[in-house]
Amino acid sequence: MELGIKGKSALVTASSKGIGKAVSEMLAEEGCSVAICSRNKEELINVADEIKRKYSIEPVWCVCDLNELKDIEAMVETVVKQFGKIDILVNNCGGPEAGNFQQLTDKNWQSAFQQVLLSAVRFCNLVIPDMILREWGRIINITSVAVKQPIDNLMLSNSLRNGLIGFAKSLSNEVAKYNVTVNNIAPGYTLTNRIYDLAVNTAKREEKSHEEILIEMAKEIPMNRLASPEEIASATVFLASKQASYITGNTIQVDGGLVKGIY
Ligand code: NAD
Repeated sequence: MELGIKGKSALVTASSKGIGKAVSEMLAEEGCSVAICSRNKEELINVADEIKRKYSIEPVWCVCDLNELKDIEAMVETVVKQFGKIDILVNNCGGPEAGNFQQLTDKNWQSAFQQVLLSAVRFCNLVIPDMILREWGRIINITSVAVKQPIDNLMLSNSLRNGLIGFAKSLSNEVAKYNVTVNNIAPGYTLTNRIYDLAVNTAKREEKSHEEILIEMAKEIPMNRLASPEEIASATVFLASKQASYITGNTIQVDGGLVKGIY
């Protein structure tokens, strides 16, 4: 299937590693101009070089802390200056702190709110007016299966990501008539640094090895394995495509069957 997004420009947040990096690469492969960001300059330069080498495009990269409004504003300004427009916005973020209710402080809640929900709201604020004027846009938020089925010990993720789903659904209703779609991807367990770190933490708590924890995670999944970042990226890039023009306000699980409920 021809995805029809050659020549579109895309901004992918939190994209120096894992799912964000895989999405950036796949959009580049589809012929999009791609902008990436994270807090680490060296990592960004390496990813930009890798994308340039593989897909012969020059990605824009910006050091941007998703918890800082001024960084978000500077990032959008740089991308618009370079590409002239933003057609596709993928709101990804680092995972919020793990922990149960009684372990989390007010500061943890504030920081997770900024990272998971407010950063996406801020990027949308800056990007959507021009999408409306040009009557074309794709917003995709990377969330988690936690929005369908809470994950033990991830209180912040379980709580705040559903705020993002509510925001996305409301926004999708407001902008649908301008051909701007807003959707969410809910990844299941995916083999990235994030899942590795969570496995190491759980292993310490349960006095096991992280390999054992990863095997136990896989056993919860009907497909009996974790996802690759590219499997999450494929669904994300489809939602960014011309072909996904009538899909909006949706949350699509990419989880190997992990969520046990029907809806
Ligand atoms: P990862 O840790 O591999 O990568 C996270 C990226 O976010 C990195 O590029 C990092 O530099 C960047 N980042 C972190 N904090 C940032 C900040 N304040 N400002 C800018 N950039 C920042 O994570 P991942 O596994 O690719 O996960 C991506 C998202 O998907 C996370 O929110 C995660 O919780 C969620 N998720 C992951 C899984 C999984 O199994 N890996 C499952 C469900 C949901």
